[in-house]
Amino acid sequence: MTALLEVEDLRVAYGKIEAVKGISFSVEAGQVVTLIGTNGAGKTTTLRTLSGLLKPSSGQILFDGKPLHGVPAHKIVSLGLAHSPEGRHIFPRLTIAENLQLGAFLRTDKAGIEKDIQRAYDLFPILGERRKQAAGTLSGGEQQMLAMGRALMSQPKLLMLDEPSMGLSPIMMQKIMETIVELKAQGTTILLVEQNAQAALSLADEAHVMEVGTIKLSGPGRELLHDESVRKTYLGED
Ligand code: ATP
Repeated sequence: MTALLEVEDLRVAYGKIEAVKGISFSVEAGQVVTLIGTNGAGKTTTLRTLSGLLKPSSGQILFDGKPLHGVPAHKIVSLGLAHSPEGRHIFPRLTIAENLQLGAFLRTDKAGIEKDIQRAYDLFPILGERRKQAAGTLSGGEQQMLAMGRALMSQPKLLMLDEPSMGLSPIMMQKIMETIVELKAQGTTILLVEQNAQAALSLADEAHVMEVGTIKLSGPGRELLHDESVRKTYLGED
């Protein structure tokens, strides 16, 4: 079986600085795969490259069997790859409902869009309760929910989440992680970038530890959770 996403020997540079130095990994349909690692390891750069926002200097990306090389970002969304970026990037002056509508900008099936907006409200009831309010009035955690809901509005085959737990209270973080588990149960395939290694490894089928642009270690999330070097470096144990 071919994977939904296959990344082979991917390299990405900012000018002369190589941020991603030849990484390979794949995501099977139905899996949650996580990239963990410290600041500057190249996780965000990897996601932005998969979205078409950055150009790789070399390597191959196959999504659903098709090469993404040279495909513009909006086309990549229409192929089924959605990105909920670091820092959320919601539109603060637009209402919650309008933000969700924008996530469906490539779709024309009105009834389907309405159904998916309702699905976002079912997933995150607070968004439904406050649908007519400006999104800027939401708390950080609620904005993260909106960013996830918006990314789901494109009906992605693969949902990429960049640091969904950043800056959230433990309770909000728990809610976001539970939602990831729920989305997986509903059949969504997820590529998750996280600094919170404990949370990400607990729920990932497959995990890759990135260090200065390379993948240092790969394995099932629960296995890495018990790996001594991972525990020392990423889980703060002696
Ligand atoms: P973080 O969690 O801090 O976002 P990360 O693992 O996602 O870390 P990246 O943001 O991908 O890491 O950064 C990888 C490397 O590329 C870092 O050394 C960073 O300083 C560098 N970098 C990122 N964006 C740029 C840019 N626009 N121009 C130059 N260098 C950049």
